Amino acid sequence: MLPQDYAVHARIMAHARERARLAGFGFIEPPTFEHAELFARGVGEGTDIVEKEMYIFEDRGGERLALRPEGTASVCRAYLEHGMANLSQPVKLAYHLPIFRYERPQAGRFRQHTQFGVEAIGVRDPALDAEVIDLGWRLAQSLGLGDLKILLNSIGDIEDRRSYVPRLKAHFEPHLEHIAPDDRNRWDRAPMRLLDSKDDRTRPYQQGAPIITDHLRPESAAYYGAVKSHLEALDIPYEERPTLVRGLDYYTHTVFEIVPADAEGSQVTVLAGGRYDGLIEQIGGPPTPGIGFGMGIERIAQQLREQGLVSDDSSAVDVLIAALGEGADVAGSRIAGELRRHGVAATLAFGGRSLKAQLRKANRVGARYAVIAGARDLAEQRVTIRNLESSEQWSVGLDEVVGALTALTYTQPQD
Ligand code: ATP
Ligand code: MG
Repeated sequence: MLPQDYAVHARIMAHARERARLAGFGFIEPPTFEHAELFARGVGEGTDIVEKEMYIFEDRGGERLALRPEGTASVCRAYLEHGMANLSQPVKLAYHLPIFRYERPQAGRFRQHTQFGVEAIGVRDPALDAEVIDLGWRLAQSLGLGDLKILLNSIGDIEDRRSYVPRLKAHFEPHLEHIAPDDRNRWDRAPMRLLDSKDDRTRPYQQGAPIITDHLRPESAAYYGAVKSHLEALDIPYEERPTLVRGLDYYTHTVFEIVPADAEGSQVTVLAGGRYDGLIEQIGGPPTPGIGFGMGIERIAQQLREQGLVSDDSSAVDVLIAALGEGADVAGSRIAGELRRHGVAATLAFGGRSLKAQLRKANRVGARYAVIAGARDLAEQRVTIRNLESSEQWSVGLDEVVGALTALTYTQPQD
């Protein structure tokens, strides 16, 4: 992550921290690697992540470890291991973590990316689903991402799918030889994944497929209905997308994504999540419900950039000190240090070059003011301040320079 990326990243995280705080989430940081088994059991043996995308290695003790391919399983493991079931429920945990997936690198798809995510564990209540979606939605809004929409669906649970999955398989069965080979392999063990295939060979056959929401048991349908009522009460727009399924096995009931309003296809989802009531049991704990989301920070940064919402002043300083002549650099250092102590970003030009070269440097570092500290002026306890935009310049006493520049460079705090 280069400085210009880091500045955007930090701004996104400042918003994320504030939103998490407003919703009562504390931060957690699980380790970068875990037993590979955790993800095989949690995320699911047949998923893309586990089957093709995990970085797995054996450590010196012969343990099979994996670089974290997602955050939820790790956070749930920590919940179990640290007895968080004894705390007041739900336990609300947020994280900001590097995620590793062996994917084909392309725009918006990296082998290491960063997720801001939240998990609310221990409660099954439609109000909580809405609260988590609200957090994601308000966060995306506060970042100024422009026109976004929420795609929402309920994918039921194992019970609901018992009657649905055979119908879905029957729908695709006559077309198996035409659909994408990857999807053909999924047909038997994860047929719902075919609904969200982006492959043009599969897409034509998605038309007319039975949809899960028509097959939910009354209690599951009522839960979904209640989630929608809560979203309406919170003034959150959503679009029902009956074909929305997620690529991880652990999801049940509520699933959602936030995508740009005009965008279809892949690599555009900025935030995705859902309920995972079976996950903790799958990794060896007692039945424990949970819901969360993960947000791809690089994708958000990319959108902000595309919409021209990113200024490239990540390493800009306010003031450059140009030192000229014998002993001037020591005085320059002192001025720079004092400015920084007063909250003004300042640096020397370095290299003892001509005034012209030093002022050129000021331009390159984005400085708005230069302090020209010449040996002759310094002998009289004076320096020159130059406004680099207007080229106006004036002489001030050494004891006034910090006060003058503090006032000149003061900007209203943002974010
Ligand atoms: P996609 O459908 O784009 O592959 P996913 O379903 O694999 O996404 P999740 O596992 O839900 O994604 O991850 C949550 C978010 O993390 C995504 O919505 C996206 O913003 C981001 N993300 C996922 N994989 C990558 C990646 N390889 N590079 C950058 N960001 C990613
Ligand atoms: Mg993926």
